[in-house]
Amino acid sequence: MKKGIHPEYKKTTITCACGNVIETSSTKENIRVEICSKCHPFFTGKQKLVDTSGRVDMFKKRYGITE
Ligand SMILES: [Zn+2]
Repeated sequence: MKKGIHPEYKKTTITCACGNVIETSSTKENIRVEICSKCHPFFTGKQKLVDTSGRVDMFKKRYGITE
């Protein structure tokens, strides 16, 4: 058996800028993100509520979402 082929997955947390913490398994530890599934307008379905000054369009461009 060769070692080092498979990355070692550890239990870690993803901390979002909104304060949401997601437990997951990853090769990286203590991941920090600016936006998560809880606060992303695409996932929350609140596009219309937060669609001021083209923010949603900015998110869509950033995440490559096209309609
Ligand atoms: Zn978030």
